[in-house]
Amino acid sequence: MKKVLTVALMIALVFALAACGGSKNEGAASPSESAASSSAAAGGGDKGTIGISMPTKSSERWVNDGANMVKEFEKLGYKTDLQYGEDVIENQVSQIENMITKGVKLLVIAAIDGESLTDVLQKAADAKIPVIAYDRLIKKTEHVDYYATFDNFKVGVLQASYIEEKLGLKDGKGPFNIELFAGSPDDNNAYFFFDGAMSVLQPYIDSGKLVVKSGQTKFDQVATLRWDGGVAQSRMDNLLSAHYTSANVDAVLSPYDGITIGILSSLKGVGYGTADKPLPVTSGQDAEVASVKSIIAGEQTSTVFKDTRELAKVAVNMADAVLNGKKPEINDEKTYNNGVKVVPSYLLVPVSVDKSNYKQILVDSGYYTEDQLK
Ligand code: BGC
Repeated sequence: MKKVLTVALMIALVFALAACGGSKNEGAASPSESAASSSAAAGGGDKGTIGISMPTKSSERWVNDGANMVKEFEKLGYKTDLQYGEDVIENQVSQIENMITKGVKLLVIAAIDGESLTDVLQKAADAKIPVIAYDRLIKKTEHVDYYATFDNFKVGVLQASYIEEKLGLKDGKGPFNIELFAGSPDDNNAYFFFDGAMSVLQPYIDSGKLVVKSGQTKFDQVATLRWDGGVAQSRMDNLLSAHYTSANVDAVLSPYDGITIGILSSLKGVGYGTADKPLPVTSGQDAEVASVKSIIAGEQTSTVFKDTRELAKVAVNMADAVLNGKKPEINDEKTYNNGVKVVPSYLLVPVSVDKSNYKQILVDSGYYTEDQLK
């Protein structure tokens, strides 16, 4: 009996060790990352290591993106080296340099600053390491082979269309007061989101059905460096005290859930969120847990869901094709000009989510469990 137990224990130990060796994740692994690394053991093969460089763990979506890619790569027999730059450009550059030195087979990168990787990607090219831009376009270099992302213009269209519908603008209602927020000026996506949104909102601003009391309607005036919710909160504080002491704001265009959280706390700070002074219609992006909870609680109004499981699969299949000398599947060859070349892309479809469809889109699809949203 004792012998059987000892053998069983040894087998368990061998499996546990194999699981740990699956992927090298810097820093404390989040629950989802650990899950991904351990599932790696099943497929963790010897096809070489893929370097995965992500921007930050401060936003849940990137944590999920990283974990999903680790899982998918390991299913195909690759090892992974997943690193997070924590929104510091120099960190990301040196993490990528290290990956190149260690001889990764391919790089998948979601850039912190899309224009700061030109030199390091020259080194990747010198070492013949292919590069896939993940979610965010990498600019000013010819050394980016493919781009896996969502239809980013459509994200903005969805955000603004939600506001349009909730305010009843199509039915001729108004005028309403709106304030605009955009994402980080060093992220190419931020311009696409804003342009998409303005394609819907601008006609109403021109006709006077939407009024931007601050007068701030240009990207540079409304951008939020590094997508920082705190920066957005201070800007909203300033807007409210300068322009809304005797008027209410009816809608706020926000490009990202973390920014919406900042905007909502500013609004609540001056008394919004009561029957007399309801919170404005708000948008967001990523369907992060805290924001979906806020939607269920009736605070944030909407978000845009981008299924990171699908994006990870697209990027991993692209990488696998490239490494096997095949042409990856792409569905867009004209949109993403990075200043040097048009990067062949695969665009996934984003989905608008609010209180009425979050169960169907987020829970029924298995993205979240009901319990996670309680
Ligand atoms: C991504 C968004 C995300 C934002 C902030 C963008 O590049 O496409 O999904 O909300 O970065 O992290």
